[in-house]
Amino acid sequence: MQTRRSDEEVSLPIRRDALAVWGRMMLVVAGISLLAAVLISARLLTAGEEQPVAGTEQPAVEEDTATATATVLPPGVARIGIVAGHAGYDPGAVCPDGWSEADLTKVIAQEVQELLIRKGYHVDLLEEFDTQLTDYRAQALVSIHADSCEVPGASGFKVARVTDSAIPEAEDLLVACLYQEYQAATELPRHPSSITDNMTSYHAFREIDRSTPGAIIEVGFLLGDRDLLVSRPKLVARGIAAGVVCFLEEAE
Ligand SMILES: [Zn+2]
Repeated sequence: MQTRRSDEEVSLPIRRDALAVWGRMMLVVAGISLLAAVLISARLLTAGEEQPVAGTEQPAVEEDTATATATVLPPGVARIGIVAGHAGYDPGAVCPDGWSEADLTKVIAQEVQELLIRKGYHVDLLEEFDTQLTDYRAQALVSIHADSCEVPGASGFKVARVTDSAIPEAEDLLVACLYQEYQAATELPRHPSSITDNMTSYHAFREIDRSTPGAIIEVGFLLGDRDLLVSRPKLVARGIAAGVVCFLEEAE
């Protein structure tokens, strides 16, 4: 008994302390619950805002995987393929100071792409041996190259299509438009005498779908036309883009 009473006397203040601690703990728990509730409801509210963001990300992912074959375009949007000559493969023609055909075609091709996108077209920027070239279907394909840096005095540009064309009328029109618009923009002379089998049997012409009109343009000589090609690449690109637009409008 003695010990039990003293136990009760001792335990009573402890119980009061325990109650006080319990009360404080409940307050803390209530506080945490309230905070959690606020956070969860805030999360639910913002989830509604996040939905469209997730929605816009999805097509971008689809496009990434689709570009390996063909991006599906909205009706009425023309697809144009622009090959940056030698890109991803070799430098092409090289000048003694190291400046190369591939350096030039990359800059011009990007500029042509930009100009045509501004006109509302879809543009696939392609490398020399791009895997997308296999059975490539588009309203037009133009491959951009430049001539040697080793022919003193030579100046001018030229355009060609594949010799045994399946669509000669369309490809002749593409070639004619590029000749006309490129000359108008750059005022370079035509240099058709230097068209080689490398142009008329160009590998990409054999890879693309036979129904895709294709042309290859040699935009000038790296040596003789260097001033224009180096200092006015945007003008060079404008001539090519205008040639493509001329073709699309006339082919309609
Ligand atoms: Zn080339």
